[in-house]
Amino acid sequence: MLSKNKNVSDYKSTKQRNKIIQVLQNAEKPLTAEEIYMLVKDELPSVVISTIYRNMEALKSIIVKTVYNDGKARYEFTKEKHTHNLICLKCKKSIVIEKCPFEAMEKNLSEQNSFEILEHKLEIYGHCKDCRRIKE
Ligand SMILES: [Zn+2]
Ligand SMILES: [Zn+2]
Repeated sequence: MLSKNKNVSDYKSTKQRNKIIQVLQNAEKPLTAEEIYMLVKDELPSVVISTIYRNMEALKSIIVKTVYNDGKARYEFTKEKHTHNLICLKCKKSIVIEKCPFEAMEKNLSEQNSFEILEHKLEIYGHCKDCRRIKE
């Protein structure tokens, strides 16, 4: 989830955050914070490494952190691996939909609106097979 109480005037930090996301999206392998820092710094020289760490924390819903054998944490964009859920309103069970139904639509929306989509959420509510059986 991207910050909901984001300060509108905080343009600089939004710009840094978007750049970090872009770097991770374009990366072919997981990157360390230092590697992300060097890549972001190329374009935004005012960035400091603590900004990278702070953003990694803020972006943890779309970025996965893994500590490797060398003891260094590496970060990876996770959008490809996200899932959606069918949530039963009666028993609260949630069924995972592995395949994202929005991949194609997102591409179209992005092209038509020149909008870079970073994240989306979808939860579908209803009654599961077991709960429907009880009702009948
Ligand atoms: Zn149910
Ligand atoms: Zn999706």
